[in-house]
Amino acid sequence: MANDVDFLVIGAGACGLCAAIAATDAGLSAAIVEKTDRPGGNSALSTGSVPAAGSRFQKEAGIEDDAETYFRDLMSIAGETEDPDLVRRMTAVSAETVEWLVDAVKARIELVTAYKHIGHSVPRLHAPKSRRGRDLVDDLVRAVEERDIPLAVGNTVRRLIVEDGCVAGAVIDTGDGAEVEFRAAATLLALNGFGANRTLVERFTPEIAGAQYFGAPGSDGEAVEWGEALDAALVNMAAYQGYAAVADPHGSILSWTTIEKGGVLLGGDGARFGDESLGYSGFARHVLAQGDYAYAVFDQRIFEIAMQEEEFAELHAHGGLKTGDSVADVARAQGLDGDAAEASVADYNAAAEAGRPDRFGRTAFGHAPLRAPFYSCRTVPALFHTQGGLKVDAHGRVLRTDGSPIPGLFAGGGAAAGISGRAGANGYASGNGLLTAVALGRLAALAAARDLAKAEP
Ligand SMILES: Cc1cc2nc3c(=O)[nH]c(=O)nc-3n(C[C@H](O)[C@H](O)[C@H](O)COP(=O)(O)OP(=O)(O)OC[C@H]3O[C@@H](n4cnc5c(N)ncnc54)[C@H](O)[C@@H]3O)c2cc1C
Repeated sequence: MANDVDFLVIGAGACGLCAAIAATDAGLSAAIVEKTDRPGGNSALSTGSVPAAGSRFQKEAGIEDDAETYFRDLMSIAGETEDPDLVRRMTAVSAETVEWLVDAVKARIELVTAYKHIGHSVPRLHAPKSRRGRDLVDDLVRAVEERDIPLAVGNTVRRLIVEDGCVAGAVIDTGDGAEVEFRAAATLLALNGFGANRTLVERFTPEIAGAQYFGAPGSDGEAVEWGEALDAALVNMAAYQGYAAVADPHGSILSWTTIEKGGVLLGGDGARFGDESLGYSGFARHVLAQGDYAYAVFDQRIFEIAMQEEEFAELHAHGGLKTGDSVADVARAQGLDGDAAEASVADYNAAAEAGRPDRFGRTAFGHAPLRAPFYSCRTVPALFHTQGGLKVDAHGRVLRTDGSPIPGLFAGGGAAAGISGRAGANGYASGNGLLTAVALGRLAALAAARDLAKAEP
């Protein structure tokens, strides 16, 4: 039976959009199907930060970096991983991937030099000026439109077409109750992980199952379910990105700058409960373990730094912060025991003043000791996205448990195995999500183009 298209992309996030662009530029016909009414997925909710080691933008800024340094950075934060080859591959192609985004896709991203963020020894995140993933997605959608690539929103892929062990396309629910078979020589799973699927979260990442999922609604875990049915190998399944401080009830991210620059998190009893410098991802499960809410406390100097970030300024404008002249004041404004809060912050300040580790081992104090006036914000921990997924080779081909590729099937981004270690949230370095999305999407498209060229008579 004839194919409807060479390269079928399931999911219109960063992975799927980049893959369709690369496939078209490599001479393939491509089409994208998207479950929700709008392209973007988690990519649109992110800060749009894509890391690259040794990019020409770093060189222009005088920053020395290379793939080996980046690999070592990731391995030192991720600890054990079930797929070191993928970490090696992603770090090796990171610079060419970001340069491709700028040169071929015309994405308006720039090197961020104001901060390095978790897991990076040098500045290597490249992001839109606004730090909004939606802007990156808009640029990708524009590139898709310029190439006349069909993008069908409101179309959910229900299952893959499998013939003699080969994937030959997908069955699509077009939204009006009809199911349509769409045949393709190669199919890319670009539909992210399983953050929105409670059953899979409880099965694979139980330590964060009690937190709210803060990602896009489409991450229902079909890649895991379809992959298991095809005997695909699943790796790093217990790894995830958490976030320790989503502002409540506002539902916007409380910038981690508030903590990194010296702020602290108090528990429901008014006292600190751990070393916040573990990072926004790794600290999330500690916040979850201590109670329903945690309360960020920081001072005026930190507030002013964070105000340079759009989302934080919006949170402030919407009344998300309480302010006062003492720690006790801002704690009481949140319904906490003011004396307990005062004592806990005094203890932290004393450690910062003396330059010694505090009672939880925190040694990075930013601008602390904190001093009046103070701010507080009520927060909840969240699951941002899952990091485990289908094991792929260096070109995004999905591999079976015996190591052989499943013909016709590729995966990238959150659907594929991640580079954040084998378990937990400590291994997530900023940008790990988008790097595997953009790089694997592009590599899969290039591999599919090579496979098809070989197959031509
Ligand atoms: C708040 C937040 C901030 C983040 N910040 C960053 C950051 O700055 N840098 C970074 O690297 N990572 C960040 N991440 C993680 C990053 O967003 C993801 O890792 C990345 O976007 C995954 O890209 P993707 O293309 O695989 O998935 P997505 O962007 O989620 O795209 C998948 C698409 O597939 C669609 N889909 C799902 N199932 C089907 C189906 N059956 N049929 C058709 N379509 C389907 C979905 O609706 C969705 O649109 C953040 C995540 C969150 C939640």
